[in-house]
Amino acid sequence: MIDLHLHTTASDGLSTPDALVREAAAAGLRTIAVTDHDTIAGVTATAAAARHAGLAFVPGIEMTATVAGRDLHILGYYLDIDDEPLVTFLAARRDERRARVVAIGERLRAIGAPVDLAPILDVPAASGRALGRPAIARALVAAGFAADVADAFDRYLAGGRPAFVTRPSVPPADVIARIHDAGGIASLAHPGKMHVDVLVPEFVGAGLDAIEVYHPDHTPDDTTRYLAMARAHGLLVTGGSDYHGPGSGRTSGLGSVTLPAEAFAALETRARAVRS
Ligand code: AMP
Ligand code: ZN
Ligand code: FE
Ligand code: FE
Repeated sequence: MIDLHLHTTASDGLSTPDALVREAAAAGLRTIAVTDHDTIAGVTATAAAARHAGLAFVPGIEMTATVAGRDLHILGYYLDIDDEPLVTFLAARRDERRARVVAIGERLRAIGAPVDLAPILDVPAASGRALGRPAIARALVAAGFAADVADAFDRYLAGGRPAFVTRPSVPPADVIARIHDAGGIASLAHPGKMHVDVLVPEFVGAGLDAIEVYHPDHTPDDTTRYLAMARAHGLLVTGGSDYHGPGSGRTSGLGSVTLPAEAFAALETRARAVRS
């Protein structure tokens, strides 16, 4: 079984790279990719653990772009994680994430839900760890301001809610270019959650290589529609469980959504072609 969408503690996952690989092996996965938000800090450790456990491993990332002020997630696979322009671009995105956490903290204080975000912010930039709203959501739950992580998003953190803070604009074409320059393949993450179907031709024009057809938040209709879209635009197909660790609140289990072997073979063929 193949799962190309997994998060670790390098971003908002709850499993360390070692724990993730143990869980993946126990779930019967044979091929995994790690796709943390705006960081490759979990790639090296996960690759080593995967090698040790006899799992095939694909280096990956999930980068946040913006379209008309809304977030868009773009997955990158087979990247050279030492690519200097990529490393620099990601460090800037992580600085923005940190500033956003601070701004959300100020907003929460102003609306009467003060939470201490110091433990969240107490991460050296050199660690490469990416901060994000799920950690704030957990702090809100711990402080009694929300029943669970989903409730914290619904009440405070989601778009349009009182502690929502917009992020600086990040054009999808820039994200795709950074992935390509690092030798990677760019895939539009969970399009069924993004409501950007009409923009897919524009993303294809910007070099999008693939589309995430298989995702836990996709309905059977979504899966059918995006498979057809992939065929129509000549896009590769990716998929995975978007696992964030045990008890992360939004989790479909490891192995619950996997990528068919033929789709993975096509991806590998392209990756080899890009490299040579
Ligand atoms: P951020 O990286 O700060 O934009 O936070 C986005 C991440 O928060 C997503 O990738 C999900 O992992 C998580 N998330 C978004 N919305 C929700 C929600 N309603 N409930 C739980 N987690 C969510
Ligand atoms: Zn996430
Ligand atoms: Fe995502
Ligand atoms: Fe994800």
